[in-house]
Amino acid sequence: MVVRAENWTHDPSRIALYFIDEKFRGLYPRQRYHRLVHLIPSDYYRTNLADSIWFELAPGERPEDVVDPDDELIAAIAPDVLRSLQERDFFAALDDLLCPVNSNSQPQTCTGDFRQAKQALQMCGFEESDWSDVFHVLMEQGGFCDCEILYNAAEESRLKARYWKPECRRRSHEGHG
Ligand SMILES: [Zn+2]
Repeated sequence: MVVRAENWTHDPSRIALYFIDEKFRGLYPRQRYHRLVHLIPSDYYRTNLADSIWFELAPGERPEDVVDPDDELIAAIAPDVLRSLQERDFFAALDDLLCPVNSNSQPQTCTGDFRQAKQALQMCGFEESDWSDVFHVLMEQGGFCDCEILYNAAEESRLKARYWKPECRRRSHEGHG
């Protein structure tokens, strides 16, 4: 990851930090921030970084390329989005991918993004144009990747129920920490 520090153009008394990493490509801004903030010890963050402005970019992106919907919009659509996800069995479909009922099927592993959730959305008849709304609501519930959707946003899931059973835990957490 490349990190660049500059005086922020809108307020030169504050520092703008640019974190540039290919791994950010294809992730929503909130996922990028969530991933990044976990890499930095919280004491260090509070002492040195709390007042800085952060930009998490993939190589070649500019800050203005990255759009983040506002919180009011997400809060307003959340009840309808969550109801629709329940009605179309999205959580069950994702659960089937990560923690299949049939122990003969190979469980998919979470890779710290929404790869499996996008597949589950397609299987449940959601259009790609719905993805941004759906994922911003799920992130608001603490679901920043496939497994976190089942742990934090789903009311119930096999993955969550089996969290403490070593076999499924190991399988579902391969690939990212
Ligand atoms: Zn995950």
